[in-house]
Amino acid sequence: MLLDRRIAHIKKMEAHKRQKFGQEINLTVKTNPVGCTHCGYDKTYNTSTNPNCVYCGGKYWIYTETKYNEFVVVKFITELEQYAKEAGGLQIGDAILSARIEAMDYFKNIMQYKTRIEVDPYGTSATPITNPSLLTVLAVSPTTLRTEIRVHCKRVTSDK
Ligand SMILES: [Zn+2]
Repeated sequence: MLLDRRIAHIKKMEAHKRQKFGQEINLTVKTNPVGCTHCGYDKTYNTSTNPNCVYCGGKYWIYTETKYNEFVVVKFITELEQYAKEAGGLQIGDAILSARIEAMDYFKNIMQYKTRIEVDPYGTSATPITNPSLLTVLAVSPTTLRTEIRVHCKRVTSDK
């Protein structure tokens, strides 16, 4: 019980940190795959028999897409930090997000389907996000006490 209280306290402090230093990001989560009715299914490659199908984009499976906003702390990797982060497969411009543990399934879904996360490159939480930086997810891992998650992201777009 003492540990439960300690964990509740840590979660509260982390939530406070996200509110103070974080920003809103846009997530698209894919669920309920339905087979495309305008093309055929390629069993071998789990894709469409028609790579140019305009209905499914040549992927055969069509998903329900749900948009979520999450409040996270975004840390972009800068030049000075690159050496230390390279082991994790991150480079300059990539990012590490700190998010609430309850959002883990969203980020795992985004990693699985290689969906892009929209982040305001200037670190503000103005909504809607205009001119977003786009990130894909490399890894999602909970902290030791499972109070928060760290999401390692690859930058898709560069600064303009
Ligand atoms: Zn199709």
